[in-house]
Parts: sequence; structure tokens; C-alpha cells
Amino acid sequence: MALMITCPVCGRRNGYEFRYGGEDKGAYPWGQDMDPRQWAEYVHMNSCTAGVQKEWWYHRDGCGSWFTIFRDTVANVEVENPEERT
Ligand SMILES: [Zn+2]
Repeated sequence: MALMITCPVCGRRNGYEFRYGGEDKGAYPWGQDMDPRQWAEYVHMNSCTAGVQKEWWYHRDGCGSWFTIFRDTVANVEVENPEERT
């Protein structure tokens, strides 16, 4: 079964319409004095979570929006409101 993603503008659509934008690493480190090694770690190193992680997605074949979703990387399914599932 193909990954289904919920675009905030277009609604639930086939995952083939989207481009993966990477893990959500939080706020951009503006104003932090980072040496090249720290910067490279921020840009290139990922946590590669086996489970639910927050990710950026781009609706390439739709409205052109960037947004975040939570996805279970093991089951490859979108997860709604993981904070409420405790
Ligand atoms: Zn869209």
C-alpha cells in the first residue's frame, strides 16, 4: 500500500505526489556561532528514527506547499497527533 500524506491545503493524497524534505530538526540555528564541523553535523547528520518522527514534505505535484507531518518510518504510514497517543 502506498504512503498517503495529508497536505494542509489539498487534503489526503497519494505519497507519490510529494517530495521528502528530511527530518524536522527544529528551529534554524540563526545567530549561533557554529564551526564548520558543527554546521556539517547540523546539515547532514540525521537521527534515522525507527518509529515516529517529524518530517518535512513538499507537495510537488499539487499546491507547492512545504509542511511537516509525523510518519512512522517502520510501517511507512502518516501518524496523526502522536503527542496525544501516550
Ligand atoms: Zn497540496
